[in-house]
Amino acid sequence: MAAKRAHPYMSPMTITIPFDNSFARLSDAFYTRLDPQAVRDPALIAYNEPLGAYLGIAPASEQTRAAVFSGNVTPKGAAPLAQLYAGHQFGNYNPQLGDGRAILLGEVCAQDGRRYDIQLKGSGRTPYSRGGDGRAWLGPVLREYVVSEAMHALGVPTTRALAATLTGEDVYRETLLPGAVLTRVASSHLRVGTFQIFAHRGQIAELKQLTDYAIARHYPQVSGPMELLQAVCRAQAELVAAWMSLGFIHGVMNTDNSAISGETIDYGPCAYMDAYHADTVFSSIDQMGRYAFSNQPRIAVWNMAQLATALLQQMDDPEGAVEEATQIVHAMPDMWETAWRRRMGAKIGLAEARPEDQPMIENLLSLMQEQHADFTNVFDALARGQARDHFVDRAAFDTWYHSWQTRLEREHNPTAVMQRASPRVIPRNHRIEEMITAAVAGDTAPFHRLMAAYGDPFGTDDLELMRAPTADERVPATFCGT
Ligand code: AMP
Ligand code: MG
Repeated sequence: MAAKRAHPYMSPMTITIPFDNSFARLSDAFYTRLDPQAVRDPALIAYNEPLGAYLGIAPASEQTRAAVFSGNVTPKGAAPLAQLYAGHQFGNYNPQLGDGRAILLGEVCAQDGRRYDIQLKGSGRTPYSRGGDGRAWLGPVLREYVVSEAMHALGVPTTRALAATLTGEDVYRETLLPGAVLTRVASSHLRVGTFQIFAHRGQIAELKQLTDYAIARHYPQVSGPMELLQAVCRAQAELVAAWMSLGFIHGVMNTDNSAISGETIDYGPCAYMDAYHADTVFSSIDQMGRYAFSNQPRIAVWNMAQLATALLQQMDDPEGAVEEATQIVHAMPDMWETAWRRRMGAKIGLAEARPEDQPMIENLLSLMQEQHADFTNVFDALARGQARDHFVDRAAFDTWYHSWQTRLEREHNPTAVMQRASPRVIPRNHRIEEMITAAVAGDTAPFHRLMAAYGDPFGTDDLELMRAPTADERVPATFCGT
């Protein structure tokens, strides 16, 4: 057969992805269509084979994956676009944000019928880049890859990581760093801020269209804006309770980083705590501690109040609906507390913790805080009967321990309950930093080691990764230098 110059997307350098792009079928009020910017020399760092197979993405060579997931080749059926949104950042409304360094390639329906976005992050400038370069460097790309996949293995709703590629170009972040692209998979990228922008602009037709779209995509069982609000409040309350049962601090709970789906999104300056303290903050830009560990439930409520305000603009009688919206948002702290008590109760072996059990959980956390005990290791040790060693003041622990043992007499199999609720490992900040430093130097072995252990967080026996950092190893801050 005569050699024929193929259309770019028909070239052998492409991957068959079964796209079905519902968001791109909405009007262009919601996005700007554009292709990712090509990069100089793409190289694949990681590809998530099981996730790719689940999404129905055909196998391909490493070179082809590098080309597609760096944005150099647009696969057939993609409808690349940058999404528009706004959002409150640290409490201040920014009237226009949007995908400044991300491109939604399109959506696929997985084997089980669930719909997912496939997005490239770090894929170049868009109309929403403002002053930014549209790029990402290797550090945050690998951080998100590892931490989001760990989150998934821990059973918490989250965006996923499909691929990481190097671009072969440097990006400038105070110094020159290797550029990279993350391919992120999410059940959608609709955010509180996606609703806010149309509400603030008075684009009520678009606001209604978006509301219908979000309901159909995420909560088909509900009807109308107020039921949508309630469903999102419930999902967010559950999410924050799950985070806190693992010692996770999101770090930048702005409304543009608050997903309508209830998934964890945007792994910027996030971190898991080592020693427990309720006021822990990692993010170097969170000077006021707005997004401190124990503030997260309040912030989630605040974010849902912003969603309520946006959704109300489409009601025929917004004034009349305010009361209903207020009630829905005000029900959130109870939802969170119930979810938190259930999860924390399980961590001390209670199959169904009741309100009267709460002081037992709180007393343990107080002891841990006073004695700088490691959050993950204490709960893992409780499940294995060796927690006493983690407390300097053994007598104080013994007092708690005896009342706990008395309470456990009423439980059937507390050990099994605890071992299901408390992982052996979480992605500790110093390990993430160590992994990034190695990867920048060309060594991806630590990345693969972390992925192996964090992929099996309840069963791993990688003792070194279970160990809390020493004072010298501790990395107390994360930077937003994305
Ligand atoms: P984030 O802090 O990642 O939630 O991003 C907040 C906003 O800043 C979003 O609109 C991003 O698209 C945008 N942004 C962040 N980094 C960059 C960058 N390097 N270039 C362009 N836009 C960016
Ligand atoms: Mg964001």
